Amino acid sequence: MRLNRERFFLVLLFLSLAYSLFAGEIITHDYAALGEGITVFALPDGAGEEAYLGGEITLTRGGSPVYSRSQFFLYPGDDKSWCALMGIPSDLEKGTYVLTCRMETEGGTEVLQKRIALTEREFPSEVLVLNGSLTDIRVKEDPEKTSQAQRLWSLLASFDDEERYTSGVLVPPMDEYRVTTDYGCRRVYEYADGSEAGTIHNGWDWAAPTGTPLKAVGKGRIVMAEDRIVTGKSVMLELLPGVFVLYYHLDELNCEVGDLVEAGDIVGTVGMTGLATGPHLHWEMRISRVAVDPLPFLEGNLIDKSLYMDKIVDTL
Ligand SMILES: [Zn+2]
Repeated sequence: MRLNRERFFLVLLFLSLAYSLFAGEIITHDYAALGEGITVFALPDGAGEEAYLGGEITLTRGGSPVYSRSQFFLYPGDDKSWCALMGIPSDLEKGTYVLTCRMETEGGTEVLQKRIALTEREFPSEVLVLNGSLTDIRVKEDPEKTSQAQRLWSLLASFDDEERYTSGVLVPPMDEYRVTTDYGCRRVYEYADGSEAGTIHNGWDWAAPTGTPLKAVGKGRIVMAEDRIVTGKSVMLELLPGVFVLYYHLDELNCEVGDLVEAGDIVGTVGMTGLATGPHLHWEMRISRVAVDPLPFLEGNLIDKSLYMDKIVDTL
């Protein structure tokens, strides 16, 4: 059903790494050329006063759904506009996709569709040789490791629409570091027995001396602070509903679950706990469980409605 202009959804496309997104009249962020996308849908001012009953964003290709998300929340500090965020994984095939946003309100169901093109981005690759004990951390079956992984996965899927803290620019977790592995790096582990396994590196590895303080990248709530088998001492910070930043391999934890932190507060220190071959911070950003590149958000806002509210998106 076609909407009148005032009732169109606003579609914002924030792009981090992995893909470029050429979307016709869809609104793109300054770092569009960098790739991997996070999609934000919002309703114009005032629309939040109408009861929102549900909705979803779906990404389809050739008529087949690739994945969908159904988690809308009120724009931070506004309480009138609805947003939803979708991370685009770095291994999604390049090609043309259709984004469909469906929202149900008391007035009925409204649908917006937009065609988007995802283009491939090159990622570096590396081989990481693991000794016997590091191989064990990765491959040895351990019920504790499994339950830690399941718990992390369910935390990443959790969605509390009250957790709206940060929509602006993030601060880097530390100021001086040396990049040792890139986001999206295609990594091959070479195990002690000579076998290999390929993975995608979901965050950035920044090397720094043990004990270097690590800052909260933005205002948010600590939802995990614990010692884990694979990732060592680890912190998980929630910035927005379903938007998390993870810090791994810490030497010390300086926060507790439930803490509300401000940008720049020290949450821990650099270490090499868990599966690490030297002192470094592994940090990553997850949106609707998908690992996206956090670096663009050190330069541009996580969400900036003011940049987009006067733009209207066409239907297909
Ligand atoms: Zn890493």
